[in-house]
Amino acid sequence: MDNPEIARIFDEVADVLEIQGANTFRIRAYRNAVRTVESLTTPLRKWVEENRPLTDLPGIGKEMANHVREMVETGTLGFRDELLAEVPRSLIELMRLPNLGPKKAKKIYDELKIGSVDELEAAAKAGLIAAVPGFGAKSQEKILAGIAEYRQHGSRFLLPQAERAVEPLLGYLRESPGLERLEVAGSYRRRKETVGDIDLLAIASQPVPVMERFRGYPQVDKVLNAGDTKSTVVLGSGLQVDLRVVPADCYGAALVYFTGSKEHNVKLRRRAVEKGLRISEYGVFREQPDGEGEWIAGREEADVYATVGLAWIPPELREDRGEIEAAAAGRLPDLIRVQDLRGDLHMHSTWSDGRNSIEEMVTACAARGYEYMVISDHSKSLSMTGGLDAYRLRLQWHEIDQVRSRHPEIRVLRAMEVDILGDGSLDLEDEMLAGLDLVLVSLHSRLDLPGEQQTARVLKALEHPEVNVFCHPTARLINRRKPVDMDLDLVLRRAAELGVAVELNSSPNRLDLKDTHLKLARELGCKVVIDTDAHRTAELDLMRYGVEQARRAGLTAGDVLNTLPFETFWKAIQR
Ligand SMILES: [Zn+2]
Ligand SMILES: [Zn+2]
Repeated sequence: MDNPEIARIFDEVADVLEIQGANTFRIRAYRNAVRTVESLTTPLRKWVEENRPLTDLPGIGKEMANHVREMVETGTLGFRDELLAEVPRSLIELMRLPNLGPKKAKKIYDELKIGSVDELEAAAKAGLIAAVPGFGAKSQEKILAGIAEYRQHGSRFLLPQAERAVEPLLGYLRESPGLERLEVAGSYRRRKETVGDIDLLAIASQPVPVMERFRGYPQVDKVLNAGDTKSTVVLGSGLQVDLRVVPADCYGAALVYFTGSKEHNVKLRRRAVEKGLRISEYGVFREQPDGEGEWIAGREEADVYATVGLAWIPPELREDRGEIEAAAAGRLPDLIRVQDLRGDLHMHSTWSDGRNSIEEMVTACAARGYEYMVISDHSKSLSMTGGLDAYRLRLQWHEIDQVRSRHPEIRVLRAMEVDILGDGSLDLEDEMLAGLDLVLVSLHSRLDLPGEQQTARVLKALEHPEVNVFCHPTARLINRRKPVDMDLDLVLRRAAELGVAVELNSSPNRLDLKDTHLKLARELGCKVVIDTDAHRTAELDLMRYGVEQARRAGLTAGDVLNTLPFETFWKAIQR
């Protein structure tokens, strides 16, 4: 059992305990364990195998350690199963809705005997929720919005969660005898920020044994469909996976078809029709007046695109956002790659809420071949992160100076991720701001301000002459927190005028700005930077998620400031 699943089970236990009105300390203990497990970079399985004391981990006491051991060894948690048996299934579904939570779900369940999300929606639309004591018209509206959000995202996995399930499965399948090719298609291949399910495509001389091996994968929880060339399973993590084995002649056509997006494929097919062709998952066919049509291509994706006069289109662009027109005109962008980055511009150290010292971060950045890097700890208003005031910031500068002298191989810039306060002023004195190489600003509080106020607050912050980068601009957390209500178009326009760069934060929970916003930012002439916001050395590797999101926006290396050599970068980042 892997870490995300262990975290999910702990979370479920906490939810059920909350419904049952258990002791709040007990509930919190489980929530803390979730946080610890989610932030771990090594699999707990390894800890158990190597007999490392789990209680060394923050938030993992004796009881949690026993739970972890049980899950790793048996693949399940008896305590969770016992708890679930005490609570109706439908209630568990309700409590997972955004804006609802365990306590309110229980109340609605008890008062209205509602047994499903559909029934809840009907009740809310009929005005029944507003009549429940403790609820009102406002919470009824929120519940409806939550249902809409749940339907859209509820069962979607973040990319790293999906990767943690998919990568070992690919390794396992590659050992099938007779397997010639294997690839992931779908939104996973398009590197969409979340994926619903996984589509695998394969070529194999003998499909049946590959299918059997797939269905026999130890992590399979349920087999939904067991065919000779197609099977569907659900993994223990809840991720649904389809595997199709297709003939070599139509592999490229199938890969185009199952990679999508739907919109991209529709446009592609329309283009084919105009040329008297038909594109399907089986290949490209020239229409004949009688019958099937003559097969003309399908082995490779590039062959399929070529039949309709297009260059091969990178999967990240396949969203029908102009890529087909660009391919037709020979204007496909040369998309940015991870190795184009020459510096990481946002990271934390033990001076605030990071796990590694400045020197450890510096060594790790140098090891990644960066020319320059930025230490940007939090400012004081984020007190729970140990944010720095002027006094501690000066001490930090002293340490940066020392580290610099020991590491001439990389340029270390001193910066700070300064909080934008409620009124749009900055959480650090002007004279200190002036002493920083770069000033990064972010929203971390009062994220629920009404649109006009939020926009004004951000604009005021960007006007401050010392500000260089606006970080994770919409403050969203994917699947967890909506973007702030703000006139992003106006903010980006102003940022472009002022010469303030906007960040693409690579944390897979954020990916902020997201693809469509980035595209807009580039069109408006904003400077763009991509960074990791790493809170530990291992997170410096998150850069690839940011790069993938940038590729989805059609960005080239030339669109991103921190691909530049230091001297040019330094000029370009100035206002
Ligand atoms: Zn931040
Ligand atoms: Zn940060």
